[in-house]
Amino acid sequence: MKTFFFLFVLIFVSCSESPQLVRFSGEAQGTYYAVSYYDPAGTNYQPQIDSILDAFNFVASLWEPQSEINAVNANRDIVVSSLFADLFAKAFWASEQTGGAFDFTVGPLVRAHGFWQEAREALTEEKVSDYLDYVGYEKVQLRDGRIIKTDPRVQLDFNAIAKGYSVDLIGRFLASQGLATYLVDIGGEVLARGRKPDGSKWRIGIEEPSANAESGREVRRVLELDQAALATSGSYRRYYEQDGKRYSHTIDPRTGRPVAHTLLSVTVLDTAVWRADALATAMMVLGEERSAELLKRFPDVEAFFIND
Ligand code: AMP
Ligand code: MG
Repeated sequence: MKTFFFLFVLIFVSCSESPQLVRFSGEAQGTYYAVSYYDPAGTNYQPQIDSILDAFNFVASLWEPQSEINAVNANRDIVVSSLFADLFAKAFWASEQTGGAFDFTVGPLVRAHGFWQEAREALTEEKVSDYLDYVGYEKVQLRDGRIIKTDPRVQLDFNAIAKGYSVDLIGRFLASQGLATYLVDIGGEVLARGRKPDGSKWRIGIEEPSANAESGREVRRVLELDQAALATSGSYRRYYEQDGKRYSHTIDPRTGRPVAHTLLSVTVLDTAVWRADALATAMMVLGEERSAELLKRFPDVEAFFIND
């Protein structure tokens, strides 16, 4: 009986194909995406992944005129989809957990500071404080599928969590196809799962915060991971300079001003990419010292800070 079992296993192993590496990339959410996985059948899932990313845009992209988030921002009375509700719940959780350092209602200030290619306003203290009247996650809630705002001027912006959340969606899709070894990257927000057929882990480069937005991408350090969700928030790709100071596209929701400290980037390692993404943005606001307090409450989370 034992011999029979052994033979059976041997035959089964020799018949099974060795997993093929499938890789492809494209564009999503104003940046690149790249997917790699090992699949015995070598199936190319790019069309399905593009559909997932397109569907996500119709929920949460500010650049998709027909998206749900734009309908909510225009105060149209809609019942939101379950995907929107889930994203909202996660964004709300991140806002509460970080004491509002992450805040999904900062959009109007991001725009006022000119980070969406529009002209920057001359923002006086008074103007900033006007904006702050309708910035604050506690001014919004989801009740019976509808977004309720305390002020109609409140605008939602899921950009600081959207890439990470989409990476998780793609990871779940690949897992649902029976894949165990994959790497998903949207603009530097990364999910790594499983070991390669030779037993090695995925190698993930953490980008060197470059001198300016035009510099090429250089790798500062390489992490070898087989179970990881990581996200980076940085001030070095999108910023403006004024009086020799660099202002990042991350807004401090309490002051209404762009973050201006020596922190160039924060990389967060967590269990889910949406969380890593949200926490990285929050830590960019908090700075290294105050992030230490936050990290105490999340023993599973690791963070790397790169200073000027
Ligand atoms: P990330 O690169 O993930 O840190 O996200 C930055 C983007 O999130 C910005 O371009 C804004 O649209 C938005 N954002 C800026 N500041 C914040 C903040 N404090 N909390 C949440 N979202 C923010
Ligand atoms: Mg983020």
